This record gives sequence, structure tokens and C-alpha cells, in this order.
Amino acid sequence: MSIERKVRSVEQLFFGLDQEISKFQNESSLRCKAGCGKCCTHPDVDASPLEFLPWAFHLFLNGAAEKTLAELKIKSTTICHVYRPLSLLENAKGSCDDYMYRGLICRLFGFGANRDKYGALRLATCKVIKESQATAYGNAQEAILKEMQVPIFTDYYMRLSQIDYHLGSIILPINKALKMAIEEVLQYYAYRPFPKGHKNIA
Ligand code: SF4
Repeated sequence: MSIERKVRSVEQLFFGLDQEISKFQNESSLRCKAGCGKCCTHPDVDASPLEFLPWAFHLFLNGAAEKTLAELKIKSTTICHVYRPLSLLENAKGSCDDYMYRGLICRLFGFGANRDKYGALRLATCKVIKESQATAYGNAQEAILKEMQVPIFTDYYMRLSQIDYHLGSIILPINKALKMAIEEVLQYYAYRPFPKGHKNIA
């Protein structure tokens, strides 16, 4: 499958997920706190390269892939490279610099569920939401156990790996996943013509 087709397939998966998340948010009233970027500052976020393929392809089309790859190669921190804090003093306040192209983990966390060892669905969300929206969180958790629809992590990761098993099932620290996604795009176009209408990009 061509890179462009893989990118479109991942984007389609994200489109469906975004709709499912939006429905869940409306029904549960759970929301991220405005301006909060705490989950992006976690030093141990893991992701697959495939979920960042649309991001890497977007960088490539805009001539920023090689520069970003060089930055990732010398990156010493494990905090996501795409995160922009509001200031050095307030690291937990900030935002994603490429929100539209964020990965699957970024979309699911907070509004997706995992199964516990008994097979029951548990909402995977952050401390900020659990504490600041305790009632809505408790109600949502109860409703999920009954009938409320919620995106399920394993279902989405399985669907992702059906697009490209290798790139969709290796789970790496996020900056390594970002790096591998860019390398995949650059390698693909190393010996192929650039996408239609694009010249001298990378
Ligand atoms: S890609 Fe964006 S949303 Fe995902 S962890 Fe990085 S900064 Fe956060």
C-alpha cells in the first residue's frame, strides 16, 4: 500500500474516532480543562509510528520533515517533541503544536476505555479530569459499565495495525515513534517521485 493510502486510511480511522469521542463527551459532559497540557508532559508516553504517519507526511509536504528529524535525533528529553508549554515555569500549561495531526494515543487518552482483568471497561483518563469533574467521571464510569458507548483502546489499536501491521503494532516512546514515522516517509520518497503538485519538498 502506498504511503498516501496509509495516511488516508489512518485519517479515516481518526475521523470515526473523533466522532465517537465527541458523542461520548456530549453524553458524559467530560472535557479537558482549558489550557491544560499535563498529559502531554508525561515522560513515558508511548505510541506507534503509524499513528503519526499523517503528521510526518504533513511535515514532508511542508518541507519540514528533515529539519524535524534532525531535531528528534539530538533530543535528550522524552517529553513529546510536538508539545509547546506556555512558559518554562508552567510546563503543564500548554498545547499540542500540531493538534490536527496528533496521534491515536493523544485522541484516546481521557476519553477511551481499557478492559480490566475481569473484562469490565474502565475509562482511562487523567487525575485532573478525575478530580475536577469527579461527579461526571463517576457517572460516566457507571454508565460505561451499563450501556454507554465509549471508544476502546484495543479496538482502535487493532484497527490501526490492520492498515500496516509492522508500523501499527510496534509501541515506542513517543519521540522514537515520531522519528520512525518521518524516516518511513523520507525513505519512501527517496526513490519515488514526490506526490502530485509537489517539488523539492522534505
Ligand atoms: S502529539 Fe500533541 S497531543 Fe500528542 S502527546 Fe504530543 S503534544 Fe500531546
